[in-house]
Amino acid sequence: MPSTMDCLFCKIISGAIPSKKVHEDSLAYVFADIDPKAPVHLLLVPKKHITSLAHAEAEDQALLGHLLALTTKLAAELNLDRGYRTVINTGADGGQTVDHLHLHLLGGRAMHWPPG
Ligand code: 5GP
Ligand code: ZN
Repeated sequence: MPSTMDCLFCKIISGAIPSKKVHEDSLAYVFADIDPKAPVHLLLVPKKHITSLAHAEAEDQALLGHLLALTTKLAAELNLDRGYRTVINTGADGGQTVDHLHLHLLGGRAMHWPPG
């Protein structure tokens, strides 16, 4: 599938491009953002190539739930007990720059609202 062969995050998941891996299971790969916007800035990525949240289908419900449950687990392990921010940028107006669905987990500082 050309979309996955050309996809940066598919290459990171496969190991073709190196990353700072934090977690891996059968469904998801988690690594440190290369340009962190907070002391903790992880990207939680489904191993399945889904272009964006707008491209998720009914069959992806369990996978999406897995990403959120994994967020809870990792945030606890990282002692983000004061809270954290989760972000899914979708499409051009959403600020998405990598076309493989990913969830940002940001923590370690107080976040601002509203985001830009
Ligand atoms: P988006 O803007 O699509 O929501 O988020 C993409 C994120 O991927 C950005 O925060 C960006 O810093 C990160 N990123 C882009 N290229 C790489 C890379 O090669 N390695 C890692 N670890 N993160 C990347
Ligand atoms: Zn991909």
